[in-house]
Amino acid sequence: MKLVAGNWKMHDRGRALATAICGRLGARRVDVLLCPPFPYLREVGEALAGSGIALGGQDLHWEAQGAFTGAVSARMLLDTGCTHVIVGHSERRLLFGDTDASVAAKVQSALVAGLTPVLCVGETLQERDAGFAQRRIRSQVEAAFRPGCIVAYEPVWAIGTGRAASPDHARDAAQTIRVAAGPDTRVLYGGSVNATNCAPFFSVTDGALVGTASLDAEAFAAIVRAAEASS
Ligand code: PEP
Repeated sequence: MKLVAGNWKMHDRGRALATAICGRLGARRVDVLLCPPFPYLREVGEALAGSGIALGGQDLHWEAQGAFTGAVSARMLLDTGCTHVIVGHSERRLLFGDTDASVAAKVQSALVAGLTPVLCVGETLQERDAGFAQRRIRSQVEAAFRPGCIVAYEPVWAIGTGRAASPDHARDAAQTIRVAAGPDTRVLYGGSVNATNCAPFFSVTDGALVGTASLDAEAFAAIVRAAEASS
């Protein structure tokens, strides 16, 4: 089954957007996941009740509790109704110092608690231009993947730039990920996916992790419909 996940990042969206998305999605043959900012998890969860749309956090700390100002644990995400959590997003790696080691610890903590991690991997522009894309993807997967993870291939140069990877590039990355993580691993593509360009990605991956376009209910619903059409 395809999965379309929305990463709302640090955008000021909560119940209203969740309600608008629910209103546009009827019975579905694809899985849908919404990841709002932490403070809105509860109200988004309420808006999603009975819809079958899953709720996820955007990050977590690997410890269960303690003096970690600003952080949340896997248990706290579970308590707010989450079933999934994004781990190792490139913005966390580049702006907040997440490393392969800390990403691996977060994945482990999420799995132990019963959350499904959406492990993000992807090469930078420099790595791509130097011919290291597949090697970087493989090393990130080998460092942090555990059975039970979904993997999102998100080339850093495609995130928020309006310049999506080609479907061929996404297919090659998905193949590298499945060689490293196992042939049944669910692999998503993320990076400037929108309602116009999404269809080819659903032919070569198991779904999409959507940032900017997930903030627009109509655009997000159109992406979900495209995923259904390719299922
Ligand atoms: C993301 O941040 O996960 C993402 C894919 O963003 P965008 O769709 O805006 O490129």
